[in-house]
Amino acid sequence: MATDRSELTSYQWRQLRARILAASDVCVVCGHGGSDTADHLVPVSKGGARLDPANVAPIHGVNGCPVCLRKCNSEKSDRPLSDVVQLHTSVDWFAGP
Ligand SMILES: [Zn+2]
Ligand SMILES: [Zn+2]
Repeated sequence: MATDRSELTSYQWRQLRARILAASDVCVVCGHGGSDTADHLVPVSKGGARLDPANVAPIHGVNGCPVCLRKCNSEKSDRPLSDVVQLHTSVDWFAGP
């Protein structure tokens, strides 16, 4: 019996995506909440790991961002995140109380 590897991978991907979204829904592109999907920071087509949680982050998909209305995932397309987001090192995104 043949094993359909792509089926298995997409199952694992859905599991991982659900885990990422359960942990956080803050979009990696625009920084707003309400992300409805997740995407690879380094695209798989560019050598990124498909099922590595460290390479996956929440992002706004087809529904777009409820705050800024961007469709971050289509904006990002298959580019690396660093091409999409200007990194402002003076801003600490993860500043806590
Ligand atoms: Zn977004
Ligand atoms: Zn936004």
